[in-house]
Amino acid sequence: MAGYDYDLFVIGAGSGGVRAARIAAGHGAKVAVAEEYRYGGTCVIRGCVPKKLLVYASRFADEFEDAAGFGWTVGERSFDWSTLIANKDKEITRLEGIYRGGLDRAGVTHHKTRAVVTGRNSVRLADSGKEITAKIILVATGGTANVDPKLPGVEHAITSNEAFHLKALPKRIVIAGGGYIAVEFAGIFAGLGAEVTLIYRGEKILRGFDEDLRDALTDEYTKRGIRIITGKVFRRLEKTADGITAHLSDGSMLDADQVMFAIGRSANTKGLGLESAGVALGKGGQIIVDKNQRTNVASIYAVGDVCDRVNLTPVAIREGHAFADSVFGGKPRTVDHDWIPTAVFSTPEIGTVGLPEHEAAKRPGGIDIYKARFRPMKMTLAGRDEKMLMKLIVERATDRVLGCHVLGTDGAEIVQMAAIAMRMGATKADFDATMALHPSAAEELVTMREKWTPPAQAAE
Ligand code: FAD
Ligand code: NDP
Repeated sequence: MAGYDYDLFVIGAGSGGVRAARIAAGHGAKVAVAEEYRYGGTCVIRGCVPKKLLVYASRFADEFEDAAGFGWTVGERSFDWSTLIANKDKEITRLEGIYRGGLDRAGVTHHKTRAVVTGRNSVRLADSGKEITAKIILVATGGTANVDPKLPGVEHAITSNEAFHLKALPKRIVIAGGGYIAVEFAGIFAGLGAEVTLIYRGEKILRGFDEDLRDALTDEYTKRGIRIITGKVFRRLEKTADGITAHLSDGSMLDADQVMFAIGRSANTKGLGLESAGVALGKGGQIIVDKNQRTNVASIYAVGDVCDRVNLTPVAIREGHAFADSVFGGKPRTVDHDWIPTAVFSTPEIGTVGLPEHEAAKRPGGIDIYKARFRPMKMTLAGRDEKMLMKLIVERATDRVLGCHVLGTDGAEIVQMAAIAMRMGATKADFDATMALHPSAAEELVTMREKWTPPAQAAE
């Protein structure tokens, strides 16, 4: 380390940065971290964790309603947004403490301030102006929520950041976007009783996901009263006496208490000084790294959302861990970006791993599809009109299961387990040979015998 203040300086104490710092310190490196907002980063402070807590909150309405069919009489119900937000904030503060404590226990020096890169081996702390040198710099600054900056009235809109801290539950909310965040928050606000409208620029929400999942969730959301308007965008937002009016591209208008942007996130590299070191960025401002997380500058690495590859917490954590093991632990390894399971925490929720049908269909030799759309047992007595979807995509040439897509209660939990088998190369025959666990919804995945044939073919 001759001549440097630290072996490693990490910018950003989120999922990737904290893991990298702790593991590198465990390997004996002298490590410092800078965090400009709160320890834990997006996932813990204003992403996965508070989101999932809100998702849980939003699902009680169904439970109360469904209980009647099972003989329960549920009395007067009421929901208090401020209690939910206060309890959520308390839990987030507890988790933040755990993250900070983890850095302390690992012997990592941490600075609660913004840091910028000033050269290949140096950073500057914004609060003190102090320059610190390090043999290696790891950029783990995550991403930021996009808005349409040119939209007249954009200042009246919120993003997911503010959605976690609203003073009151909006009675009417309009959400722009058709990806993870738009769809999840639509479910949250609808479950809590708000009137929700999604405005999506394309034809169908959740582009890139399996078509059957997209169709099935659109159906379920429509049944739940979530209005999905496609092929339109905002033209302008206007503040009114009792809220905001969103003017849409077709000239129509929507009145709401809140308007939310959920139109994607961008790598957080603005003003980070990366140009001072000559770090190469992609078109969207993301840091370009190789499979070892290294940038074009040998002393600078990057992990997580700032690289804009697969923007999920477990991926950022794995990348941070692999970086630390490789560079400081003498255990070189890279992160496999295949077979990453993912969920959309809508209600009902989506769990998915592997290829969607439109991708799998490109495989030479073709694919077979197995799918079931059925009313889960609980919904029968509950009297709820909600259907589950299970779909397996199988490569004909190898019998390997290439895709597993679930929409319905516990879809995320089911798919996490299926992902293990699929990563190991499980075939449809392996799924079939696995004994069913009865009665469960997941057993459908090991009992689907009939190949699905498209209706036109079936009629021939
Ligand atoms: P981050 O966790 O964003 O950490 C970056 C940190 O760097 C931040 O704390 C930031 O304050 C800090 N920082 C930035 N610039 C500087 C600077 N110059 N100096 C000092 N500090 C700086 N993923 C899932 O897997 N599952 C989910 O259910 C899920 N839900 C999500 C819900 C929402 C609403 C959002 C927004 C995201 C969600 N994600 C989810 C994505 C997940 O949060 C990210 O993929 C993950 O947090 C990325 O980790 P990271 O370490 O790359 O960055
Ligand atoms: P997504 O990329 O998932 O979705 C963005 C949506 O906004 C798309 O529907 C996109 O449309 C639309 N869009 C993009 N630009 C515009 C524009 N200028 N005007 C109108 N619409 C636009 O981003 P999110 O913000 O929902 O989430 C960011 C990322 O965070 C996710 O991709 C995911 O990696 C992560 N995340 C993960 C979660 C999970 O694991 N459960 C939950 C939440 C976030 P189009 O499809 O046409 O491009």
